[in-house]
Parts: sequence; structure tokens; C-alpha cells
Amino acid sequence: MVEFGGSTRLAYRSQYSGTRRPEPVEARSLRPAFAILSCMDAVTLTRQLIDIESISGNEAAVGNYLYGEICRLGYQSKKIPVEGDRFNVFATWPGHSNPALVFSTHMDTVPPFIPSSEDEEKIYGRGSCDAKGIIAAQIAAAERLRQQNLYVGLLFVVGEERDSLGAKIANEHAPSQCRFLVNGEPTENRLALASKGTLRVELTAKGRMAHSAYPELGESAIDKLIAALGRLRAMPLPSDPQVGPCTLNIGLIEGGRAPNVIPDYAHADLLYRLVGASEDLRKQIVSTAGEQVEVMFPLELPFLRLRTVDGLPTMIAAFTTDIPKLTNWGEPLLIGPGSIHVAHTEGEFIPKRQLHEAVEMYCKIARELVGVGLQQLG
Ligand SMILES: [Zn+2]
Repeated sequence: MVEFGGSTRLAYRSQYSGTRRPEPVEARSLRPAFAILSCMDAVTLTRQLIDIESISGNEAAVGNYLYGEICRLGYQSKKIPVEGDRFNVFATWPGHSNPALVFSTHMDTVPPFIPSSEDEEKIYGRGSCDAKGIIAAQIAAAERLRQQNLYVGLLFVVGEERDSLGAKIANEHAPSQCRFLVNGEPTENRLALASKGTLRVELTAKGRMAHSAYPELGESAIDKLIAALGRLRAMPLPSDPQVGPCTLNIGLIEGGRAPNVIPDYAHADLLYRLVGASEDLRKQIVSTAGEQVEVMFPLELPFLRLRTVDGLPTMIAAFTTDIPKLTNWGEPLLIGPGSIHVAHTEGEFIPKRQLHEAVEMYCKIARELVGVGLQQLG
């Protein structure tokens, strides 16, 4: 494992392949300008990024490394301070500081750190698919587009896995003419049609304790809660023809004191996956639950319908992203290589083929969305 410490920047020899790990070499002395473009492929960059630990809160080293690499390619790069030594990286090509389209993803990972390794088909390690492989694919795509005179921006943020703090700060720094944000998360290179929202609901019932031999002297909170839950389970939920049904999970029930005591308290935590706006659903939940329980809505993450591009395969993302915090960066799209099913696991990996396909995919999306306008201008 290579250690990145202090200000020493290290890089692997660019031509290595297979599972053998190369000797680290001094970056500045051996690597010519435009190294990523000419001889470093996305696989190499992915492994370099994985090997710099960047668990949420500790992104400064990977941020400095990325900042250095992107500057070396010739981009104008900006460190956007977030908190302490943490910063986002935003880069544009000189003379094109107000891009119409920006590729973005996050630099942080969940714990624990897992160093990189690879075989014929896959790159392994923490962040391989979520989202360091995506960073590499987006830089490679930006470079390829630049060769075709299409200049996109690059935004890499901190804190996605914790509280989206990097995205919140980045939202104050959006270029004024940015029309599209292509956000990268592992979707197996399929464009997300939508990302389901989350509505958390808490039900609380109160009663009066009594000896269970004389139930008429008490008032059962559990009976009230069960009746309300029964009605809510039977309540029809909205469905979207593209996105599918809104779903309900009753995730937690608690209450009562003992088998021989009429319960004075009962509580349930529910979670709805939203496929549209929540106003009507909230009203329906309150009226269906009835007056014998108290209804609270402690959290909502909104349902998002996302921009698609003709001819690309699609999916529905059930997970959350930074997109709701990046509202000033234009219309959002969501696509990236790798699978959400292996993200956050011990065996996290990214298929090399998907990594290379993602470069093509990002280029195609940018050409479809802003390429035509550029040709008209030019
Ligand atoms: Zn992610």
C-alpha cells in the first residue's frame, strides 16, 4: 500500500497492468504534462484515488491530489473551502469558465479504508465504484470532449456519504450559465429516470393502564395503534407508470409494559418511498390513521424526476444522492459505472468494462445536451 503524506505527490508508472503493484515514483519528475490524456488510463487513476484514504471528514489528501492532477492537465481549478481543511474541487478549461454542463460526484467514502487491487475484469477497493472510478471516468470524458472542442466543468465534492455538506457549499458557487449537472453514482451506466423520495412517519398512541382482568377500566394504546396501522396498510398508495408504486414499510413497533397490564403507550415508525409530491399523501395518512393516534413527519427527502437522454438505458434509483442540494447547477442527470449493490460492502469493485463504457456514455450525454448548441454558436 502506498502512503500519501505531507506534500509529497506520488504516482504509479502509467504502463502497469495486471495484479502486480508498481513502485511509486515522484510525480513531478517523471510524468509529463497531459499524462492522463496520453498514457494514464482511467483504471490507473481509479487505483491511485482508492489508495488515498478519504473517509468522510478526511478528504483533504485526495482533494489535493485531484487538484494537482487536474491543474497539471491544464484546467483552471478552484478549491472551494467547506470546513476545516476540507474543500471541494471545481475545474474548468481556460477561456471556458462558465460551462453549460458540469460532471460531478463525490471524493469521500464510507469506512473502512480498503486499498486497491485488480484482476483482469475488476478493480477492487473502497470507493472503487462509489465514487472514485466515476471521478476517473468523468475526467477522461472531459478530456476527450475537450479534444472535440466541447468544454465541460468538473465538480468533486466532500461529505456526500455523511451529510452532503460539500454539495450544500458548492451550491453557492454554481457557474451562472450552467444548464446541466451530470451527477455520478453507481447506476451500472443506466440513466436514472427518477430517484424515489423518502417520507418518515411516526405514530404514537396513548391509553390508560389497568389490570388486564378488567380491561373496561383501562384504555389500550396498542389496540389504537394496531387499528391505525391496519387502516394505513389497507390504504391505496399512488403509483407512477414509469417509476412504479409508492411503498410502505412499518419498520419498528414498540409499546406496552407487561402481559397483564393494559398498555398506556404504543409507537410505530413507518417509511414511505415516494413516487411524487407528498402533500396529498400526508393528508391521507393523517385522516386514515384517525384521531386516536398522533401522527408526526420527522423527515422527508423529495422525489426527483430526472432528465434522460434518448437511446440510453434507464433505471430507478431508490438511494439518495447530493442532487437535491445542487439545485443551482442546472437540470440534474444521474448515471455512473458500477453497482449500488456492492457499494459500501467489503467486496466493493468496479468492472473495468463499465469504467471504459462510462467514458463513452458521459461524452455522448454531453454531446446530446450541449453539443448541438455549441455547433450553432461556432
Ligand atoms: Zn456515492
